[in-house]
Amino acid sequence: MFDIRSLFVVMVATNVILAASLWIGTGRRLQGGLGPWTLSLLVQAAAFVLFAGRGELPDWASIVVANGLVGMSFSLTAAAILAFRGHRLPPLAHAATGGVVAFAVGALLHDLGARLIAANFIYAACQATLLALAWKPVEGVSRGTHGLLVGSFALGIASFVLRAAAPLFAPVANGGFLASSAIQAFTLMAGYTMILVSSVSFLLMQKERADFRAQQLASLDPLTQAFNRRTFVELAQKQLSRARRLDTPLSLVLVDLDHFKSVNDNHGHLAGDRVLQRLADVMRGQLRKEDVLVRYGGEEFCLLLPDVPGPGAVALAGRIRKAVERETFAAGGVEMRLTISAGVAARIDEGPEGLDALIARADEALYMAKHRGRNRVAAVSLGRSRAA
Ligand code: GH3
Ligand code: MG
Ligand code: MG
Repeated sequence: MFDIRSLFVVMVATNVILAASLWIGTGRRLQGGLGPWTLSLLVQAAAFVLFAGRGELPDWASIVVANGLVGMSFSLTAAAILAFRGHRLPPLAHAATGGVVAFAVGALLHDLGARLIAANFIYAACQATLLALAWKPVEGVSRGTHGLLVGSFALGIASFVLRAAAPLFAPVANGGFLASSAIQAFTLMAGYTMILVSSVSFLLMQKERADFRAQQLASLDPLTQAFNRRTFVELAQKQLSRARRLDTPLSLVLVDLDHFKSVNDNHGHLAGDRVLQRLADVMRGQLRKEDVLVRYGGEEFCLLLPDVPGPGAVALAGRIRKAVERETFAAGGVEMRLTISAGVAARIDEGPEGLDALIARADEALYMAKHRGRNRVAAVSLGRSRAA
């Protein structure tokens, strides 16, 4: 059927080409785990060279060292996955994994059947560990790409378990390791597929997360992680036309810290910044997933509330007002109590009111709240309130 030695040669070429492509394609800056990943491909390639030389090379090289290198390559893959998630695997782990595999294989040097069972069982366990490390979804990485990586490790487990189980059911083929058998050929093809799919998906994960972070950077306010004003306008326009089309409610709340200038004046600008961060967190604690928090201006925030009618928005603003009133803001070594004022406006269902007009009404309401003595919520012509 297949010439096993040729399959190994193809896998050596594939690994080296993949490693070189990663290195060149990333401008030789292998970050986010791509360094250990590339190294893992090269270490595997070295192991495959030794496997292909079985019979020509001494057994300690083509069996003991080769399997040790495979173990080490899986440890490097683990380091890559951990690095992508911001964790570090000590380099000693690679030597230890390689050493354990080499020792196990070396101890069974003269028993091919037992050796295949032991080595492939260890490899299946390595793949299961990789699957566990890669299991948790990563923010910014699509389900498809994440699924490809996890799936490739599942394929790895299945193919190593099959290899480990094969000697139990059929005697090891005459000609040993390089003898062409259906299981040998199938599992090597599975290994080949796994290397390709996992490498491509790991690279895609890097790109998707980088895109996600760039988009976040462009749409979020760096201090409070609330959406910035530019993104707010885009989101609000979309939500407003959706609300008109489906005839659903939409509310807007402007929130402004009372006497915030005195926080800066008395405790410094840095303390003021900490207060703004805490305020954003307190507000987030009161919101649903669909609600949008925006840093509208200096110490002014805006809440865009899809499907929330005016009275609902007034109630939410009231809850936020109380939560802020209860909160002790710690900044610059001092603790302080602060309050907010809020202005609420809801979409009016009759007439094509634009975003500017809606904001203007919320602003007018905020002005009223300030004028009436602060630490309160005011609303201007709430529109319909049928869902309240
Ligand atoms: P009012 O109750 O009328 O809202 O009074 P106020 O002091 O909160 O309002 P005013 O508009 O007079 O002052 C707002 C202050 O917010 C002035 C400005 O220094 C401060 N500010 C704006 N952006 C930031 C920021 O990013 N960080 C800090 N620390 N302060 C900011
Ligand atoms: Mg203010
Ligand atoms: Mg203000």
